[in-house]
Amino acid sequence: MRSVTEHQQVIADLIRPRPAQRRAPGDALGLVLAADVTATLALPGFDNSAMDGFAVQAADIASASAEHPVTLPVADDIPAGRTDIRPLQPGTAVRIMTGAPLPPGATSVVPVEATDADFAAPAPPAGQRVAIRTATTEGQHIRRAGEDVAIGTTVLRTGQRLTPAALGLVAALGLAEVDVLPPPRVLVMSTGSELIAPGTPLLPGQIYESNAVMLAAAVREAGAIAVTAPTVRDEPAAFRAALDAHAGDVDLIITTGGVSAGAYEVVKDALGGQVEFTKVAMQPGMPQGAGLVAGTPIVTLPGNPVSSLVSFEVFLRGPLRAAMGLPPDRPRISATLTEDLTSPLGKRQFRRGVLAGTTVTSYGPPASHHLRWLASANCLLDIPADVDRLAAGSQLDVWDLSTG
Ligand code: AMP
Ligand code: MG
Repeated sequence: MRSVTEHQQVIADLIRPRPAQRRAPGDALGLVLAADVTATLALPGFDNSAMDGFAVQAADIASASAEHPVTLPVADDIPAGRTDIRPLQPGTAVRIMTGAPLPPGATSVVPVEATDADFAAPAPPAGQRVAIRTATTEGQHIRRAGEDVAIGTTVLRTGQRLTPAALGLVAALGLAEVDVLPPPRVLVMSTGSELIAPGTPLLPGQIYESNAVMLAAAVREAGAIAVTAPTVRDEPAAFRAALDAHAGDVDLIITTGGVSAGAYEVVKDALGGQVEFTKVAMQPGMPQGAGLVAGTPIVTLPGNPVSSLVSFEVFLRGPLRAAMGLPPDRPRISATLTEDLTSPLGKRQFRRGVLAGTTVTSYGPPASHHLRWLASANCLLDIPADVDRLAAGSQLDVWDLSTG
């Protein structure tokens, strides 16, 4: 039997990143940069006012105080967005709003609160005078061009994940596109003649399809794009036809079911020779397969629901995330076991568990069809292949499924 680590390597070698893509910032949230972002624009782009108030020469109001205000004529009005800015004449004030370009010659801004002006009033300022009740220092309430970002600064680095703030910065710099690692498109296809879609009445012997729903969600949770195909019956020709319909337009195919030792193993029957079917020394999830179909990587997971999702965690989540430049592993914690446990010698066992702080308790039986327990577990206990019993109080590795 192949070890878990060996099969992980086989799958890691199969899944390669897609070439970098140029994307609009609005379409890049959560993706990882494939190139540095360097500013070709300064931020702020021009000297502007940090306050609603009056642009002045600080020297003109050096003597201003509450008792002895300095009164200046208001020569102009500059709302944000005005582009035709005339220089400030000494001995005058210019009404100015936050973010509006500072007139050349102005050396400070007086906030409206330190004046007798009423900005709520609709009257235009022309011909008005303003009484200023406080002096200002040179440069006060002015945002200088380039004080946030100077032209030529590398503001975001290759490998950095695009957060909302990073996307805002990209847009502020006027960039219509960024280079990112695009998420892989992953086809999820379940097989089994017993499977029918939820919402349809069950006949005796039929069950509802659950793996495709679950694995597509796991693909999305990992950050990739899930493409779902209709469930395929256990007929090799139908399975091949379904594969051929999709193989060209996805980056990875995941199938479930039809790979164990029974008869009617549709995936094995259809892909023998093309895909390497193997047994991995693990529980759950022993029957596995990996290979290429028409040049597209394919990973064939077992059909038992717990086996299929644990197999995704163990073999696929990491490589998919690595292909997107994301941290591949779930957080691993060394936790203290609260109970005695046994585990099959020679197989690495992934038991479902509940992690509370740094103590862990197994949750539900080890059987691979008990999905209920996995649905409310928050971790996997990673019990090494050469361990057959663990006493309460032992330390063991736990994969924290609640984050990452
Ligand atoms: P298989 O690997 O095809 O032999 O399936 C193993 C077990 O998993 C059987 O009990 C199947 O009915 C069940 N199973 C397989 N695929 C699915 C699926 N997509 N949804 C729910 N159960 C499944
Ligand atoms: Mg089956």
